Amino acid sequence: MDRQSMKIPYLNLKDINLRHQEVLKNTFNEVLDSGWYILGKSVESFEREYADFSETKYCTGVANGLDALILSLKALEVGQGDEVLVPSNTYIASWLAVSYVGAIPIPVEPRLDTCNINPDLIEEKITSKTKVIMPVNLYGQAAELEAICAVAQKYGLFVLEDNAQAQGASYKGKLCGAWGDINATSFYPGKNLGALGDGGAVTTNTEALDRKIRVLRNYGSQKKYYNEIKGVNSRLDELQAAFLSEKLKFLQQDNTERNKLADIYNQELATVGDLVLPQLAEGATSVYHIYQIRTKQRNELQNYLTQQGIGTVIHYPVPPHLQQAYQELGYRKGDFPIAEEIAETCLSIPLFPGLLEDEQAYIVQTIKKFFR
Ligand SMILES: *Cc1c(COP(=O)(O)O)cnc(C)c1O
Repeated sequence: MDRQSMKIPYLNLKDINLRHQEVLKNTFNEVLDSGWYILGKSVESFEREYADFSETKYCTGVANGLDALILSLKALEVGQGDEVLVPSNTYIASWLAVSYVGAIPIPVEPRLDTCNINPDLIEEKITSKTKVIMPVNLYGQAAELEAICAVAQKYGLFVLEDNAQAQGASYKGKLCGAWGDINATSFYPGKNLGALGDGGAVTTNTEALDRKIRVLRNYGSQKKYYNEIKGVNSRLDELQAAFLSEKLKFLQQDNTERNKLADIYNQELATVGDLVLPQLAEGATSVYHIYQIRTKQRNELQNYLTQQGIGTVIHYPVPPHLQQAYQELGYRKGDFPIAEEIAETCLSIPLFPGLLEDEQAYIVQTIKKFFR
């Protein structure tokens, strides 16, 4: 194919799922034929499989990743007036969950190299109101979970991992989504383990917490029409659970492919222009949910790549503290300069299972051409 005329989307979800079209269609038929669509065998099996995958004792499926975070905070009894330490550099869902339960998100700056929460800056943010530290394994890379858990232990705080982006990543040999007292993940279609709709899950090793999540997600009820607490409706569908069981079989393979693609970018782009490439913390692995590069010429590079047919995304253009939704907290530009610098310089380039060698070569060549 003529490299001048290539069109490469940032992400091609259709092709990712069409790789499994036969098995997904059979799965749909099985669920249809079962006549049972909410909280049945498919959810139960997937929960067991995802707990095994995560190397945690328990897993409960919920409606989406944001709910997984909200219900986790509720299970930890976080509420009005409590403080939760969150990364200043994250997707806004991490903050919204905290606000939703009436608590206050307290931002902690990231390390500029890893873009993940800086464990050395956590202690100074702890007050008598702090209840939880919420590390986010951003872009697919494990945060420095050992140091974070050590601070939490020292101050008697809970750890809630937001593991929506790092299914299968690990820190010092232990999987992400298994470090926290309780851990949330998302199966939004674009995540590494993506459903064909919304979905999420909570993993934990504590039976009492798992039980709380199970009751909360289903109207506060374990036994139908008997309500122990005021719960919500946040259930993972049978259909999505059945799809996820099939897709989970390919997650490790997909993550390996993502790592191979990342290795090629790392080699090819190492000395191009002022590009800063993803850097892993010592002991951390990444499943490259996102391959994010940084440059002072971000907007120009993005425009150039668009003209050349290459899709890119900015993760994320506005950090949560500067979002209109968080005006009430009174933060200004300059308050979290590292998060702001990342927002101003970052660009995510295509990296997904099924990205062809040819296509990646074209992306590399086009980026090199821009800086020449
Ligand atoms: C996607 C995501 C969420 C929310 O997941 P949804 O399923 O979209 O609600 C939360 N945190 C992070 C870091 C995410 O990337």
